[in-house]
Amino acid sequence: MLPRMTDTPGMGDSGGAWSFATAREPAGFPAVEVEGVPGVEHAGGGSRTLCGIRGRYLKLFLHHFRPRGLASCRKCRVLAEAAPSRPCGQERLHDLLLQDAEDGPLRTDLLATLRRGARIAVWITGPAKDLARHFARLDRMTEEAGPAAEALAAAGTSVTLARVEDTDRQYLVVLPADARARIARGAADAPPATSPGTAAPR
Ligand SMILES: [Zn+2]
Repeated sequence: MLPRMTDTPGMGDSGGAWSFATAREPAGFPAVEVEGVPGVEHAGGGSRTLCGIRGRYLKLFLHHFRPRGLASCRKCRVLAEAAPSRPCGQERLHDLLLQDAEDGPLRTDLLATLRRGARIAVWITGPAKDLARHFARLDRMTEEAGPAAEALAAAGTSVTLARVEDTDRQYLVVLPADARARIARGAADAPPATSPGTAAPR
């Protein structure tokens, strides 16, 4: 396995075993087929397969390449299995925020939250209007909700939105394609009413 240098921050006050280093994910590749050569699946990687076949000849499947699959290309298998692991979602979002969000107290808190392994409930790219309505939960946000809403409104056709759940708070991150990221924060949602043995009074 090729080691990949990652900037693994100190764990600060978390004290847990979770870390960016332990949470790395195995590399995943979309399964693709070369047009006119059915029955063999390759590992897609950007504009070409891992074994070097160019993009325009490819048909994309909706599942991941299975290195051990019977129909899998042997070259792709070897290369896929040798591919270095990739950072977990928390680390990727962390690094994105270091780059794309202004420094400030909310960013500092969110970065620390991600280093503790907080759940990323939503991370999605799509039309700003739909994402705002279905995923942003702007009404829950009590800090910086205005700028986040403005960034969403200004984003137009495509925007990336992430929501991170901490124990008692949640963060909304708005990542426009061509502007700085915006972070808002609010109280966590009420726990689901369907937990076992609970009558869920309202
Ligand atoms: Zn291949």
